[in-house]
Amino acid sequence: MMTTNIASDERRVVDSVPHQLLIGGEWRDGEHGLLTVEDPATGEPLAEIADASPADAVAGLDAAVAAGPAWAATAPRERAEILRRAFDTVIERTDDLALLMTLEMGKPLAESRAEIVYAAEFLRWFSEEAVRIEGRYTVSPTGSGRLMTMRQPVGPSLLITPWNFPLAMATRKVGPALAAGCTVVVKPAQQTPLCTLAFAAILQECGLPDGVVNVITSSQAGPTTEPLLADQRLRKLSFTGSTGIGRLLMSQASETLLRLSMELGGNAPFLVFEDADLDAAVEGAVLAKMRNGGEACTAANRFHVHEAVAAEFSARLAGRLGGMKVGRGTEPGVELGPLVDAKQRDKVAELVGDALDRGAKPLTGGRRIDGPGYFFEPTVLGEVPEGTRLLTEEVFGPVAPVVSFSSEDEAIRAANATEYGLAAYLFTANLKRAIRVAEALETGMVGLNQGIVSNAAAPFGGVKQSGFGREGGREGIAEYLETKYLAINLD
Ligand code: NAP
Repeated sequence: MMTTNIASDERRVVDSVPHQLLIGGEWRDGEHGLLTVEDPATGEPLAEIADASPADAVAGLDAAVAAGPAWAATAPRERAEILRRAFDTVIERTDDLALLMTLEMGKPLAESRAEIVYAAEFLRWFSEEAVRIEGRYTVSPTGSGRLMTMRQPVGPSLLITPWNFPLAMATRKVGPALAAGCTVVVKPAQQTPLCTLAFAAILQECGLPDGVVNVITSSQAGPTTEPLLADQRLRKLSFTGSTGIGRLLMSQASETLLRLSMELGGNAPFLVFEDADLDAAVEGAVLAKMRNGGEACTAANRFHVHEAVAAEFSARLAGRLGGMKVGRGTEPGVELGPLVDAKQRDKVAELVGDALDRGAKPLTGGRRIDGPGYFFEPTVLGEVPEGTRLLTEEVFGPVAPVVSFSSEDEAIRAANATEYGLAAYLFTANLKRAIRVAEALETGMVGLNQGIVSNAAAPFGGVKQSGFGREGGREGIAEYLETKYLAINLD
């Protein structure tokens, strides 16, 4: 085990997680040696874990293929109970899992705890869905036959997840896949693989048969997963990550006609109308912007506020963000942790620099914070001019640009002026306006008078360049089910 200067409880939690690949129920070393996971609050190494080769990834698929028929034939109730036990175990271990998450990803402990609960909910929800996979039985229009429709697992699936929600992105895919009867290979992000490894170990403890879930960690995502995408035994790819990598994977997947779910980037508008409850709008804005330090695909990227209330809203938001305590997520009272790495922090700094150069008014923050770790001040920028990169690019950081509008049509046009279409937020006290604007927004999700949309019981996903497919809700399991129709001759 490597030794770094971290507190003993932190060391215990990191060391309790397997550091190897999980293939066919066995924990094994990777052919490419080790990859280092670091603590973004200090830049110090946290753990060294197995680095998989392409051959290791293929071994993961071999195991998933071998385990497939027995898992598909396992009684839905049994699949459900394994998921339900996993839900209970994740909840029981909230403290340790939250600490692990904060160490590898940086978010404050309170936010990690909230993610553990959110992540576990997918296990509970899909344990309930496993026993409700329905088909149809109809009389054919001629009356002479019967049409029976059944839904069967799509088969071995590759699940690729990002670093920003290290556990929830895994449970949101693994939960429905297992409920549907699919076996999987999971490839977590290299910055945050420890939560997925801990989750895989929990599934084993809860009685999951060998080979149903295989985990591949790698420092070279592309070359490692490419042979799986080219392998016709793989039947499904569910990807959460950036739009650019999503496009690349989609083109690779065209060779094998893989079924795809693509949860990609976002650029959520946050609309505040003149009739909104401003207290609620400011609180909603803090949540929509600062949850996960702004490193969320659903994060409010830009604030469009009616000109009558724009100055007051901006000042109040700046007051709230400016008062936030920034620091290592393990410290008491910290509300904003570091960004995940230097690249992400530098990108945020570059986007803020562009806005300031174009004349945006800094109302609070605006600078990177020196020292170890990758910190950036909570930032509010007022009067952000059109053409500013912050308004069109995904920020993924604690920066809130505010622009004003004067009419509902202008607000809708501005909100939709993006290639993305994941989430939008809308604050108004006028019900007719709320329905009108929600229907006009080109996004997969809309938060009405609330700054958070994620919910295991609801379909999460986007339109336009934010991708397609839905996770959670009744829709989530459908992504892992194929429809078969049986024609019954009664003549
Ligand atoms: P990313 O760079 O696209 O990486 C996502 C995952 O893909 C990681 O596991 C990464 O592995 C892997 N990957 C990278 N290149 C690959 C390749 N050529 N072939 C196969 N896999 C590859 O995205 P990120 O920076 O981690 O995550 C942030 C993005 O995710 C943002 O755009 C955010 O909006 C989006 N996101 C979307 C949702 C949603 O539900 N719509 C939810 C959360 C995040 P490595 O770690 O090894 O690079």
